[in-house]
Amino acid sequence: MNINRHYLDLQDSYLFATVAEKIAAYEAQNPDQRVIRLGIGDVTRPLCRAAVEAMEQAVREQGTAAGFHGYGPYQGYDFLQDALRQHYAAFGVTLERDEIFVSDGAKSDVGNILDIFAADNRVLVPDPVYPVYVDTNIMAGRRVFYADATAENGFLPLPDEKTDADIVYLCSPNNPTGAVYDRAGLKAWVDYARARDAVILFDAAYECFVTRPELPHSIYEVEGARECAIEIGSFSKTAGFTGTRCGYTVVPLELKRGGVRLRDLWLRRQSTKFNGVSYVVQRGAAAVLSGEGQRQIRADHAYYMENAAIMADALREMGVWFVGGEQSPYVWFRCPEGDSWAFFDRLLTRAQVAGTPGAGFGRNGEGYFRLTAFGTHEDTQEAMRRFIKAL
Ligand code: PLP
Repeated sequence: MNINRHYLDLQDSYLFATVAEKIAAYEAQNPDQRVIRLGIGDVTRPLCRAAVEAMEQAVREQGTAAGFHGYGPYQGYDFLQDALRQHYAAFGVTLERDEIFVSDGAKSDVGNILDIFAADNRVLVPDPVYPVYVDTNIMAGRRVFYADATAENGFLPLPDEKTDADIVYLCSPNNPTGAVYDRAGLKAWVDYARARDAVILFDAAYECFVTRPELPHSIYEVEGARECAIEIGSFSKTAGFTGTRCGYTVVPLELKRGGVRLRDLWLRRQSTKFNGVSYVVQRGAAAVLSGEGQRQIRADHAYYMENAAIMADALREMGVWFVGGEQSPYVWFRCPEGDSWAFFDRLLTRAQVAGTPGAGFGRNGEGYFRLTAFGTHEDTQEAMRRFIKAL
């Protein structure tokens, strides 16, 4: 028996696991101290009423012979696909039901989509970025190389014609930097991908934080993207579904490689290895996309963005350089001193505030630090008070 030895090529531990271990160790040694967690991007606002009521109703249906649902359609229920189609129509994007695959979240799809691509594809990943893109490719033995995201390019790398990639990851609004591509930036990547038959995996998990009309929510707002891009979305940050679990992947019908529709491969993969998202959760997700649901979740987004403003004000007061926190729930700042893990330890032990060290997101993240706006107002205010006092 041979194990998958590529797992041994992974860095020691997944970033957020290391952060959690360090916090747990500190708390065990200092039981009287309360650590404020602004590290992992989990949300704190409860589910909106529209989603809760829809799920309550769906549970009751499941308890009746007439309303019972067993295994659902592989790609998700029509009602949720149609709600997503309407959601995209608001950005001027037309989708077919056949192109939409409902899932249990973006993380699963980001990892699983690799099943339909050969192991010898060359993978281009921005640095820094959400670590799952790198680790899932290392697990499969793929070669990963990096597009430098730096303060100089606004953390929004553009294609370099000399770099030959088959798979390109883009994440906008970006985790961890909060940077958002404009249409011209996305168009440059679409042109690059089409010129060399590459495929873009576009992670739109933070799409709902885009409020400036000139900025795109979806890569399909850019001409030509339907021939080269797969888009992955999530209800986690949009509607507090981190614990309820629902996301989706869009694979356009036009997207073919090697004469094969990728949508057909993905359907084959999903119908073989995945049995769908529960009826109850899909009802909740569809309710999020209703008029009432959208009004309710926008109030939560505004709440989080007030936290971002609290953090931005405090960083300005301290004279700390930062970006993000405007079209994104992440604030990305330059560590006032030390490398990013040293700064993590310092903030934890001196201020009892936990963030995420930039180095955990890639080489270019060294020297930077990420805070999330997903806490409560009280915790965010208190964290920034402690931060100012400690530094
Ligand atoms: N994509 C990005 C960029 C994320 O930051 C996250 C979660 O933090 C995910 C995907 C995972 O989302 P989900 O909860 O839908 O699995």
